[in-house]
Amino acid sequence: MICNNIKKENGHLHFAGLDTVELAKSYGTPTMLFDEDRFLGNVNTYITAMQSAFGEKSMPLYAGKALCFTHLYRLLREYNVGIDVVSSGELFTALSGGFPAERIYFHGNNKTDDDISFGVSVGIGYFVCDNLDELLKIDEIAGAQGVVQNILVRLTPSVDAHTYEAVNTGKLDSKFGVAIETGAAEEFIKTALSLKSVKLCGLHCHIGSQIFDAEPFVMATNTMADFCIHLKNTLGYNVEILNLGGGIGVRYLESDPEVSIADIVAEMGKALHNKLDSSPVEFPEVRLEPGRSLVADCGMTLYSVGAIKEISGVKNYVSVNGGMADNPRFALYNAPYTVILANRADEECDYPCTVAGRCCESGDVIQENVMLPRPVRSDIIAVLTTGAYNYSMASHYNRLPKPPIVAIRQGKPEIVVRRETLKDLLSCDIVLNVKE
Ligand SMILES: *Cc1c(COP(=O)(O)O)cnc(C)c1O
Repeated sequence: MICNNIKKENGHLHFAGLDTVELAKSYGTPTMLFDEDRFLGNVNTYITAMQSAFGEKSMPLYAGKALCFTHLYRLLREYNVGIDVVSSGELFTALSGGFPAERIYFHGNNKTDDDISFGVSVGIGYFVCDNLDELLKIDEIAGAQGVVQNILVRLTPSVDAHTYEAVNTGKLDSKFGVAIETGAAEEFIKTALSLKSVKLCGLHCHIGSQIFDAEPFVMATNTMADFCIHLKNTLGYNVEILNLGGGIGVRYLESDPEVSIADIVAEMGKALHNKLDSSPVEFPEVRLEPGRSLVADCGMTLYSVGAIKEISGVKNYVSVNGGMADNPRFALYNAPYTVILANRADEECDYPCTVAGRCCESGDVIQENVMLPRPVRSDIIAVLTTGAYNYSMASHYNRLPKPPIVAIRQGKPEIVVRRETLKDLLSCDIVLNVKE
């Protein structure tokens, strides 16, 4: 199995120690499962790897855009970690979970004035500043609120990570950040240092997502380290915090390579020490921002099989009672997933099919070319590794209520996000008087 929290037992698929067929019975479908113990294990893997690669003052920041709900922040606040948010909504969720504002980093290429005011007013730790307009706006808003706001600046290190275009963010033409290559970054930093109501604490980069090799991360680390040395030599500026982003890949398919978070982090640590130990730069506090690699393998989605359509000699469609509204990733970028018939997990997989969703779009597909035992109506389908960028990207398309999230904690299931009801769908609707 692609992850060791998944097993087949007595013909049923088990996840985090529990029978998924029983879970589907208890909670209905579609339902998203969340392996809480695995999540905390992944968090500890990052903490341990970073402490040994970068020293005691380093810490991971969880990129909450991957999966965001209140209980998750309640869990995280007990750990030596920070978090990333990219909107007032994510910030509000984290604060509602009791996560301390000073360990929150606010990202995004287009923070609104309201986002900035909200962040400053709750005492957020850092804004990761993306562009000059935003820098001046943060300075203005912080000044008006009578505070000095800590910031990092987001740079594009011009690393071309071998990954798909939609999530490739470290290149010169990216919509994110300020380029080092063109000299824009240095000008930006001079401006930031001249402002009264912001304090520049360091640098950030994020090169992309679903990256399996250490190489692009090492290249980015080297570029950022060189720039730290350059800033020290030219401006006398010392980078206190160096945030090297997220992007470590996860296995969606059996054929995907195994990834060692510890190894990749260790390679980055070696590169940074190589560059900085013999330089005038003081070794900075390092941050990494994993999203996917903290939550993806903690998630599994359970659906029920509905209509089955066999187009003779062409294709077999197996439709489930969810789809792009809860997992848009195949529709967005042909994302691969492993699909298993959970209630007949021991049977031979000799039936080729396309697992489709229930939305009124031909593109509403969970996965093409899947091999399953020939399914029948009411069978349970499990889609693996759905913890990242599924629930957080879910929509109400076709007015479908969002599924619940059931956390499994030491073998016990608990609802941490309840299933939406039909009434929830109307919660923002206002009906005006209609003239007779
Ligand atoms: C998306 C994102 C992350 C997390 O990326 P993963 O691939 O999920 O680890 C981290 N930092 C920033 C700035 C991001 O935009």
